[in-house]
Amino acid sequence: MRKISKLIVHCTATPEGRDVTVDEIRQWHLKRGWSDIGYHYVIYRDGTVHQGRPIETPGAHTKGHNQHSIGVCYVGGIGPDGHPRDTRTVEQEEALENLLTDLKEQFPRATIHGHREFSAKACPCFDAHEEYKHIGKEFGRKSPAQSTTVQLLLLQLPLVPVPQFLQSAALMHMRNILF
Ligand SMILES: [Zn+2]
Repeated sequence: MRKISKLIVHCTATPEGRDVTVDEIRQWHLKRGWSDIGYHYVIYRDGTVHQGRPIETPGAHTKGHNQHSIGVCYVGGIGPDGHPRDTRTVEQEEALENLLTDLKEQFPRATIHGHREFSAKACPCFDAHEEYKHIGKEFGRKSPAQSTTVQLLLLQLPLVPVPQFLQSAALMHMRNILF
């Protein structure tokens, strides 16, 4: 598997309410002379997640960043006035969050971005970096139980009964010092 350092979110830039399939997007991208659909995943308006290009293969979605990224695209992105707009359905929002969480679990070091952070475009028409910065904070980091230092410190905790809330306060304090 290639190294993945970024998960990049896109929209199809199609009108709100219009369904678009992986096959249609593939045809658009083949016409541009690309070898396959540029994105690795496409999220339909009903929230179903569809495979595009295999993730082992670099995509064609963000100029200069394809080699080490995965491209995720939701269908939509254009409002009734023809301007860029966050048109995600509730189902798409949920599916995006779940997919990005799964990917972040597989690639804990990858950071999540919107296409517009790398290009003068509106895509994906919302602040993906801000919205998803909470995802995966728990992955790729040792839990206190796995950390030898914390285990040693725990052994030194007083053996007299300590109220539960004080114990957790002490643990929080140690975490803050250690991490
Ligand atoms: Zn894009």
